[in-house]
Amino acid sequence: MNRKKRINSFKAVLPSLGRNEAYCRNLAVAFLAQADPTVEEIADVKTVISEAVTNCIVHAYKNERDESKRKIYIEGVQFEDNTFRFTVKDKGCGIEDIKKAMEPLYTTDAESERSGMGLPIMQTFSDSFRIKSEVGKGTTVTFSKKVSGSDEG
Ligand code: ATP
Ligand code: MG
Repeated sequence: MNRKKRINSFKAVLPSLGRNEAYCRNLAVAFLAQADPTVEEIADVKTVISEAVTNCIVHAYKNERDESKRKIYIEGVQFEDNTFRFTVKDKGCGIEDIKKAMEPLYTTDAESERSGMGLPIMQTFSDSFRIKSEVGKGTTVTFSKKVSGSDEG
């Protein structure tokens, strides 16, 4: 996706718990902040991270009884042109039909408050977006965002 030089990176592994959604979001924003992003760029990254992490929390491990296996793997890389690439990965149930999952309003959890808009939203708010998934193995969401730099000083 990107052959530019990496200038910074982070990796974190957290239990897949609701309370860690805000933590992951803030982690990504703190990392991004070094490049002086605009308010809109921050909001976009927050949205995508939040949707991706929420999917790990609500879908990926719904059948996983072993608490020690319910983990979110999050990673960020900054390239020299201030493109940021984030990865949100789980080792959960995986997605059978990604094409279908990507469709607006498609959800396997309609009884809850889910609207099936997470994946289409993630795609909209990223510069590039990729999802890889294997049933029984897990799901990896990768997206990138180029930060132009704030003009507010
Ligand atoms: P919303 O995001 O609007 O609350 P949703 O999570 O159901 O609803 P999407 O985020 O678009 O909608 O995901 C669509 C479907 O893809 C989900 O209902 C779920 O079946 C599947 N899915 C998405 N992410 C994962 C994941 N990490 N692991 C397993 N299944 C997933
Ligand atoms: Mg979702």
